[in-house]
Amino acid sequence: MKFLSSVMLALIATFTSPAWSAQCSVEIRANDMMQYDLKKIEVSKECEEFTVTLIHTGRLAKTVMGHNWVLVNTPDMQAVARAGLKAGAAKDFLDTSDERIIAHTDLIGSGGSSSVTFKTADLQVGGDYTFFCSFQGHSALMKGKLIVQ
Ligand code: ZN
Repeated sequence: MKFLSSVMLALIATFTSPAWSAQCSVEIRANDMMQYDLKKIEVSKECEEFTVTLIHTGRLAKTVMGHNWVLVNTPDMQAVARAGLKAGAAKDFLDTSDERIIAHTDLIGSGGSSSVTFKTADLQVGGDYTFFCSFQGHSALMKGKLIVQ
């Protein structure tokens, strides 16, 4: 009994300590069907930084089914996507000098993964943020919302 109760106290301490109250990273998977496995990512302002790791679970190469994860203010999405198309395959379909891009991973193919870490100080609670894949023709299906809390 004594052992059990000390285990329970340890568990309670684990779940209530501040370090565990906010999840400051997320994994998002992308497949050969041009899909992310998440449509929504929640970011807590309790995190100073937030890390997104993109994982390509498909079998197709970067040149035919490349995926990245690009974060923008929602009103900027179309323009950033167009600029990415203009940059073309040689630039991985992203103009990385575009200042409207808040954060982005590398473009990856089968078996690849890429992470990006950004500061939550740059994000507003209640702001309207969209993440998308800037590979040619993907953004219509591959997009979601990033919610800041
Ligand atoms: Zn893609």
